[in-house]
Amino acid sequence: MAAASKSVTRTPVLIVGAGPVGLGLAADLGWRGVPCLVVEQGDGSIGHPRATAENARTMELFRRWGIADRVKEAGTPPDFPHTVLYLTSLTGYEIARIDRPGHGGAARTAISPERPQRCNQLWLDPILRDFATGFPSVTLKMRTRFESFVEKDGHIVATVTDLAGGETNTIEADYLVACCGGASSIQKTLGIAMNGVPALEYNLNIFFRVKELWNFHDKGKAALHFFADAQGIWRTLVQLDGRELWRLGIRGRWHYENPDKVDASAMINAMVGREIPHEVVSSLPWVARDLVADRYGKGRVFLAGDAAHQNTPSGGFGLNTGMGDVSDLGWKLAALVQGWGGPRLIDSYEAERRPVAARIVKQATDNFLRDRKRPSHPEIAMDTPAGAEARRKMGAAILESQSKVYLTDGTALGQVYDNSPIICDDGTPPPEASVSEYRPTTRPGARAPHAWIADGRSTLDLFGRGFTLVKLGDAPDASAFEAAFASRRVPFASVTLDDPEIAALYERRLVLVRPDGHVAWRGDKPPPDPLAVVDRVRGA
Ligand SMILES: Cc1cc2nc3c(=O)[nH]c(=O)nc-3n(C[C@H](O)[C@H](O)[C@H](O)COP(=O)(O)OP(=O)(O)OC[C@H]3O[C@@H](n4cnc5c(N)ncnc54)[C@H](O)[C@@H]3O)c2cc1C
Repeated sequence: MAAASKSVTRTPVLIVGAGPVGLGLAADLGWRGVPCLVVEQGDGSIGHPRATAENARTMELFRRWGIADRVKEAGTPPDFPHTVLYLTSLTGYEIARIDRPGHGGAARTAISPERPQRCNQLWLDPILRDFATGFPSVTLKMRTRFESFVEKDGHIVATVTDLAGGETNTIEADYLVACCGGASSIQKTLGIAMNGVPALEYNLNIFFRVKELWNFHDKGKAALHFFADAQGIWRTLVQLDGRELWRLGIRGRWHYENPDKVDASAMINAMVGREIPHEVVSSLPWVARDLVADRYGKGRVFLAGDAAHQNTPSGGFGLNTGMGDVSDLGWKLAALVQGWGGPRLIDSYEAERRPVAARIVKQATDNFLRDRKRPSHPEIAMDTPAGAEARRKMGAAILESQSKVYLTDGTALGQVYDNSPIICDDGTPPPEASVSEYRPTTRPGARAPHAWIADGRSTLDLFGRGFTLVKLGDAPDASAFEAAFASRRVPFASVTLDDPEIAALYERRLVLVRPDGHVAWRGDKPPPDPLAVVDRVRGA
């Protein structure tokens, strides 16, 4: 018999799941002063390392919150190369090498104030948890399982179980966000399906420790390693901390289904090409998927992160796409809870984020299949002329196709929210999409470009809690436009930038940037009906 309901708690936003996306959303809401409650069935411990790669856009979000430096310090040391190697074994032949000089460290680049970093969830999740729970308005309840919900009288009534005490409690909320990785009952209750391929490949990961593995071979330090043999490319090695922690990934259903029968030590030694001292820490069977939810929510309920999209790790996109959801949803929930946002904000979340996820999930699957289907050669690891020729051919094909797996500034920074109901489209054509190259634009829907301003800050440091009207060069008087924000009680500020290079980069004399850093409207003159623009961008 179910235990009696013990307590009723009330919160504006109930978040299910304290993985990186649930914690990130709680952090963003806390940073905006919006109360929220996160329930997590686990105890916060992380047994096995998953995501490691944060792209520049995710790092920009961490910068906005003021935690980018903590993430950099906790992750791979700044001088550790983010190089990608294709090999026969660590002591065998090198087939291809992709250097990523724009990754890691803190040296300035022209396209972002932040560079992609490597900080595994082993360290990232605790940083996000500390940061989120540092806000008095954020409550995190561990060992609490979300069971079910109903929507009643314009709010959510959820049932949760306290796993320590066993009692059932009720939480009433204005909004519910599934950040459960797809593991809770929320999608099912809403009748939302995950479309795509539920199982592209079965895998087993082995987490192990070897101090400075690079001292046992001649290929030097690298972040990612792929190993080819006569069967093709089915093993990967990921460096996790720049020191001693590694993850060997093995593809294949037998390994997935028989983790206890896999000789992890033999696998590690085979990958090195000789016996080395090592300590196996843990293993994790997991499935590579290609899935996007057909809806991103219904009514007062939203899906974010892996609850909305799941892809293969090829390209390092899952957590980053989830952080993009956080950046989009956080300010919209804040606007709804604080009363200055309108109902179209709700639909705009799916309209903006679902097409981005669909593109990225496809990109991850393409990346994955290219390597998985890459033809090998029986002599690929042999010291024979046929072996050398096979390695040369495979190396050339890898460089041709895989650079865009690892150099993805266009995917990270070039996300444009076309067809959004809360963006003022100005009719200009969309820039040509590129995976590897980011092309700055202030076309409405795009991320407002980065440039360094005179006081050493980035233009991005000007955006965040409210809307920002950027006035460039000899911008015309915009006081009626500014007054329209005040009359609708929308958080708002104007900034003037005189630098002619930034004026050229920003393309128009007035550029309106949303709280998530995307352009909402632009023009050389203020809009003829300022209130109509303000109402559109606040979803009224
Ligand atoms: C091997 C591997 C490597 C990866 N590498 C990368 C990478 O380099 N870069 C990248 O961007 N992504 C990467 N990813 C993907 C990344 O790990 C995920 O996209 C990310 O963890 C998703 O975060 P999330 O918070 O949405 O979901 P999750 O991390 O799955 O968290 C969901 C949380 O919800 C909790 N929960 C579930 N149901 C309930 C319930 N009923 N009640 C309460 N709590 C509940 C769970 O306990 C869990 O803590 C990788 C994934 C794998 C498997």
